[in-house]
Amino acid sequence: MNLQTIDTLLFGDYVLTMNDGVGLIRNGAVAVHGTEIVAVGPAGELARRFAPVTTINGSGRVLMPGLVNTHCHVAMAYFRGLADDMHLKEWLEQHMWPAENRLLSPAFVADSAELACLEMLKGGITTVNDMYFFCDATAQSAKKMGMRAVIGAGIVDFPMISGNSADDYLAKAEEFIRQWQGDDLVNGCVAPHSAYACGPETLRRAKALADRLGCLMHLHVSETAWEVGEIQTRFGRRPVEHLAEIGVLDRNVIAVHCVWVDDREIALFAGHGVGVAHCVESNLKLASGFAPVVKMLNAGVTVAFGTDGAASNNDLNLLSEISTAAKLHKAVTNDPTVLNAKTALLMATRKGAEALGLGDRVGSLEPGKRADIISFDLRKPHLSPLYDVCSHIVYAARPTDVDLVMVNGRILVQDGTAVVCDEAEILAKAEYWRQKISPQGEGI
Ligand SMILES: [Zn+2]
Repeated sequence: MNLQTIDTLLFGDYVLTMNDGVGLIRNGAVAVHGTEIVAVGPAGELARRFAPVTTINGSGRVLMPGLVNTHCHVAMAYFRGLADDMHLKEWLEQHMWPAENRLLSPAFVADSAELACLEMLKGGITTVNDMYFFCDATAQSAKKMGMRAVIGAGIVDFPMISGNSADDYLAKAEEFIRQWQGDDLVNGCVAPHSAYACGPETLRRAKALADRLGCLMHLHVSETAWEVGEIQTRFGRRPVEHLAEIGVLDRNVIAVHCVWVDDREIALFAGHGVGVAHCVESNLKLASGFAPVVKMLNAGVTVAFGTDGAASNNDLNLLSEISTAAKLHKAVTNDPTVLNAKTALLMATRKGAEALGLGDRVGSLEPGKRADIISFDLRKPHLSPLYDVCSHIVYAARPTDVDLVMVNGRILVQDGTAVVCDEAEILAKAEYWRQKISPQGEGI
């Protein structure tokens, strides 16, 4: 039998396909050619079928689909640790907004986004869904770093440094999204900030634009109790009821946070097929509350994980989000059986991809899907002994255990080191900007 020539054959003592449950294969392999996965199966079988140009050894490794971060503000990486331990209002009004107004520019956004992409890739995140301004700079950085990204063009009703009105933001969003249409790695989406920063007319126009361009709408929903009160005061109904009433909810919408949603609102999410990005550590740090994730899952809502921006977290570590969420919801519901390791891992991969409308391209290891693959090196004290691979990844693994990251068939991290960028240069740029953001700050 003639062997089929392929680019890369990756082996793993364990392969989690995340297809049909977690789809565990002992002594497995994944065959990759070009940007796609061509086969997944037992190592011996694939070794007999394929002649790879490159072979990746899988001893002590587990291969799985790359993690999907469904909510981030990557350009806020430079505000990491700038202001902590305060209320959301004070944090935004006295620290974030003044810093943004003083410093935001395409150059700032591009450099900060590079740092964020580097951090995410090294921690096994291969896809990010973002929301911010100066989107083209973010998109260029994601593309340069080789990361898969959905970049949300931010829309608000008031002037900020990148625009002066809803009309202006909507026009910029359309131009940006059209520019990146058809790119295999980076695409745009429409990102009205929230129902309190955008009136009903702006939200309707944002959704109409998303529908016209065939892309996702990405917005914050019910992050705080204040927001629920504010929307009730203005419109006489709760935020999700408000969004349903004005006709902007459907399966091409991802709602972020959803901390303060009641049973009726959860039913509205389920009925309209809205995806939810759960950002547990940001919600904890800002004392926003506990999102009713178990209720949402039981109602059939697609819930996935997001890191939120580094300014409110303070890292872009999805492994930590998975672990925190899996534990927190057990405590909140007084039930240790909820959000088990397999459910949590599905949320971080396949469900995340589905929530972003990318379920046919990424989120699991299957022939025909894009080759977004990560590998964990399990030969560590904190990962020994091994009884259950899912348990280790959810409850014990760290970003530094990720030793290989491939996106779209291209290896970006090898032996735990980024191979497509100059890491020292990215860190030096962070220090350069730190001096501008806070000259009296610590520095290194
Ligand atoms: Zn956010």
